[in-house]
Amino acid sequence: MFEDRPDRDAEVVLVGRSNVGKSTLMRELTGHDFSTGGKPGVTRQPNHYDYTSEDFMFTDLPGFGFMSGVEEDRREQIKTNIVQYVEENADHILAGVLVMDGKSAVDIIDRHEKRGNVPHDVEMFAFLQDVGVEPVVAVNKTDKIDDLDERLDDICDRLGLYPPWQQWSDTIAPICAKRGDIEALEDCLGEVFHANNRDDLLKFV
Ligand code: GDP
Repeated sequence: MFEDRPDRDAEVVLVGRSNVGKSTLMRELTGHDFSTGGKPGVTRQPNHYDYTSEDFMFTDLPGFGFMSGVEEDRREQIKTNIVQYVEENADHILAGVLVMDGKSAVDIIDRHEKRGNVPHDVEMFAFLQDVGVEPVVAVNKTDKIDDLDERLDDICDRLGLYPPWQQWSDTIAPICAKRGDIEALEDCLGEVFHANNRDDLLKFV
């Protein structure tokens, strides 16, 4: 189980497969470097970035899915903990940022589907909706993608959002965390804050 959640009324969580760039994105959002320098999958506990004087925090939840050197049942346990954390705190979580590696996401999703499994990303997107947490999809590593529009349309399609992706610009945010290009995501989060009557949080994005 995840413990020691700071007592904050408003929260944005980051979820995603390991190695998609969540730590890099967290650093860009908060200005704080959480990286341990260790190998992927090392982060098993949430990283909370709470603002002392404010009722808000960003939380980077551990990565899920395949991680080399991590046993299957351990990976399942991490995913269960993530789901539980989001369920328990859904009332406080204004947005769930599902971070994807834009270059590999569609291939991974299709591979899982072919095997008859529900892909993690698809499952997580639906789960956020189910528990009433606004999903925002941060499609990362756009610097590695040549046919970006096509790729974003494919991601929409796999998530059950009717393409073209531009219709979903409040939900789909192409970013390049490594270069600090995260404006599309900040715009999406700003919209969510505004819709929740929390313009006071706009300064965090
Ligand atoms: P995490 O496991 O999801 O926390 O992923 P990290 O933030 O540790 O990033 C995993 C790898 O992806 C690292 O080598 C990062 O430098 C790289 N990465 C992160 N963001 C980007 C990006 O926008 N473009 C590219 N090309 N690589 C990125």
